[in-house]
Amino acid sequence: MLSRNERTVLFSKYEDIFQCPICRNAMTLVNQKSFICSNNHCFDLNKKGYVNLLTHSLKTKYDKAMFEARKAISAKGFFEPLLDRICVMMASEQLLTDSQSPIKILDAGCGEGSHLTYTLQKLIEKADREVFGVGIDIAKEGITIASRGVSDTVWCVGDLAKSPFSDKSFHFILNILSPANYSEFHRMLDDEGMVVKVIPERKYLQELRAILYKQSDRSIYSNEHTIEHFKRNFNLVDFQHVQYRVTMEHEDIEKLVHMTPLSWGAPAELVQQALAKNKLEITFDFSIMLGRK
Ligand SMILES: [Zn+2]
Repeated sequence: MLSRNERTVLFSKYEDIFQCPICRNAMTLVNQKSFICSNNHCFDLNKKGYVNLLTHSLKTKYDKAMFEARKAISAKGFFEPLLDRICVMMASEQLLTDSQSPIKILDAGCGEGSHLTYTLQKLIEKADREVFGVGIDIAKEGITIASRGVSDTVWCVGDLAKSPFSDKSFHFILNILSPANYSEFHRMLDDEGMVVKVIPERKYLQELRAILYKQSDRSIYSNEHTIEHFKRNFNLVDFQHVQYRVTMEHEDIEKLVHMTPLSWGAPAELVQQALAKNKLEITFDFSIMLGRK
């Protein structure tokens, strides 16, 4: 993992992207340890190497075990076909090839950070330039795990509705299987900036849903509405569908069940049935929307 010192150097180098989540004034990193705004609102970098920019403490339904499970599923590469496609879509944009380095990317709703970390590595290989990542999530449990990573990334606990970042700070905002805040996205994006939004499609985890709910076609939510809402806010420049199947062994299935909110509402005996499986074919099914401000 990056040392606390290395992380502090990164925070310091990019301090101008931060703004106070309370009064929206600029913040500076003081004594290498606290972000302070002109109204003296103060947020300390903590020992784990991230900064908590929430204005009130908050408990989410997402606990440490869920994020550990998601990290394990990511480490097995089950999301890589999705993330590889995202990188190809981003790399074909002039924004990435023409911009002055470094490219600044925000992952809004980054969870335990695996998607951002993988995406940054791939983009650095493809774009051959400095790429700087910022991950934000409202769940401290996710950010704590993310901050163990080694990439050139800073991690923050924060609320997207009061995003602690200055206007026009980012070239790209990733929003992967997570709620959005489009007015804040607009504010934080550079004039040429782009949003990459990933939504689950109908067949996502259908085999697991078949066990947990004894049905496979229950739609997660209305995608039509989500897509229309996106198009009202951004100029849709690319839309791609990614669907693939993977074979999961017993321990992967266990992690998958713990990772997904799907298991929260399911009867306990059906969750046990899923956990008892030794092998399952699992469908991953997503749409990726790339939109320009
Ligand atoms: Zn302030």
